[in-house]
Amino acid sequence: MIEWDKVALDIAREIEKKVVPLFEKKESKKIVGRNPSGDETKLMDKKAEEIAIRRLSELDVNIVSEEIGNINKNSKYTAVIDPVDGSFNFANGIPFFCFSIAFFEDKKPIYGMIYEFLRKNVYEAYVKNGAYLNGKKIKVNKRRKSYTISFYTLGKGLNLVKKIRRIRTLGSVALELAYLAKGSIDGIVDIRRHIRPTDIAAGFIIAEEAGAIICDEKGKKIWYQLNATDRINFIAVNSEDLLRLVLSNIK
Ligand code: MN
Ligand code: MN
Repeated sequence: MIEWDKVALDIAREIEKKVVPLFEKKESKKIVGRNPSGDETKLMDKKAEEIAIRRLSELDVNIVSEEIGNINKNSKYTAVIDPVDGSFNFANGIPFFCFSIAFFEDKKPIYGMIYEFLRKNVYEAYVKNGAYLNGKKIKVNKRRKSYTISFYTLGKGLNLVKKIRRIRTLGSVALELAYLAKGSIDGIVDIRRHIRPTDIAAGFIIAEEAGAIICDEKGKKIWYQLNATDRINFIAVNSEDLLRLVLSNIK
């Protein structure tokens, strides 16, 4: 039996040691290629991904990763990774980015981890077992009277801005999902059709285990897609009330 949490943390720590020192350094921004969805790959993305792939290859699991795409090993297990989510923040000195990894068995989620490098915070969840931050159970915050959400739009649904007390759009949806899970924010709405399964696989597992409701822009459940190129809209919120407010204002 593979201990997914140990595997995840080992990879996170190696990336932390070898790649995070590039934080805020010009060199980290160097463009070294393009990923399967056509975005530029930065040097720090590449270095982080190489570490993750080397480690995961030892386990012979299938890999879906943001920069390289799919590596099929005909295993029943698949790791869906984003070696650094929030690369722009990383390269430009904004301290909000993370490592994201989720494991699936026969396409069903088993475990997800978000590692917040600069604060050394481990957010994790085994499916049906609750969500944890550094070993302590976390839950979404359902008691708030005025909402704080992260809202990504290209112009659609701007009505929502008038109905929400605080908009905080932080630049790493993976880490924002972890912040939703621990109750720091109330929701994330991304309707740019921009987010890939690699960005949110681990965050979905953690947020759901912490009590979040996750769906698409029509309120329909989202199923995990194990690829690096789909572009999706999603809503993740702490309550039915907030979900109703969001859905009625982004039509
Ligand atoms: Mn990403
Ligand atoms: Mn990335």
